[in-house]
Amino acid sequence: MVQWNQESIERLTELFNQGLSDKEIGIHFGLTAVTIEGRRLELGLLRRKQYRQWSTKEEMNLVRWWSEGVFAIEVAKRLGRTRAAVSDKIYKLKLENPKTLRRKAQEIPDGMKYCPRCECVVTLSEFYDIPTADSGRAGYCNRCSNQISREFYQSIRRKCLRHIGDQLRCAHCNEDDFSILQVDHKQNDGYLDLDGLGLYRSILTISKQEAQKYYQILCANCNWKKRIEVQRQSDPMRYQLNQIRRSRVLNYLKADSIIKCTSCGIDDIDVIQIDHIHNDGNQEKSRGLREFYPKILSLSQDEAQSRFQLLCANCNWKKQLEQSTREVNE
Ligand SMILES: [Zn+2]
Ligand SMILES: [Zn+2]
Ligand SMILES: [Zn+2]
Repeated sequence: MVQWNQESIERLTELFNQGLSDKEIGIHFGLTAVTIEGRRLELGLLRRKQYRQWSTKEEMNLVRWWSEGVFAIEVAKRLGRTRAAVSDKIYKLKLENPKTLRRKAQEIPDGMKYCPRCECVVTLSEFYDIPTADSGRAGYCNRCSNQISREFYQSIRRKCLRHIGDQLRCAHCNEDDFSILQVDHKQNDGYLDLDGLGLYRSILTISKQEAQKYYQILCANCNWKKRIEVQRQSDPMRYQLNQIRRSRVLNYLKADSIIKCTSCGIDDIDVIQIDHIHNDGNQEKSRGLREFYPKILSLSQDEAQSRFQLLCANCNWKKQLEQSTREVNE
């Protein structure tokens, strides 16, 4: 057993810098390659080798398996990667050794649980119920779980948009703010299809050529405008009726002499949406506009304006994104 001292650490560093493999360095010390690798990573001596890029899903699996005590070599096998790549990633993610985790878990009081991702001990109610899991609870706290799924969602969204567009920008107005870019069905058959993650995934299964034939990237504003335009052409009666009802409510809510976005000031009425200032709108939205508009008009104008504001589709999307990120960080 080598006692790691200044001298042996320097020797290890030197051999590493000469480009020797862990196995070769191990021979010098009479140690296994695995021991050398562990020591080397602790010292921050990383191989410059470029590993295939990790997807969020792979990372999630790695973190989960590692926390379950699956050995790096087994993780590597499951992911179709080398053990070195997995060890490197474990080091970069600062994942703790399962043994340390188990020890920590023993020190945790009843009704509490340790989250290996944020390294916090929080009450069990902060972990989602997972009846199939051994502990009956998720491995990570709710905040971490939400963040992981949000990151996963965004990475799939980004991949999907890249699949559709050569550039990440709106095909109509060139807007390139990633947060407000959406998938548009060129043929307006969106109602036949899926939404969100399901849609992104299904697009990723078709060829790039096909994807670009059927879909395009639009910013939220252009997408919203297009939807209204489609209705105007396909169902003029309904369009007219909607316009009358819409403009009545928008006029009731406008804070200024004209109808415009409270945030960016755009005054194109076709992109203006009604935003719940305090984000308490899920219930109302699910009941549909038929009940939503009369409800607003039934309030006094002061009350209506204290609860609702006019935002363009872009600003509304951005607000929702910021809101969901804030919930994570709080
Ligand atoms: Zn956590
Ligand atoms: Zn646009
Ligand atoms: Zn706006």
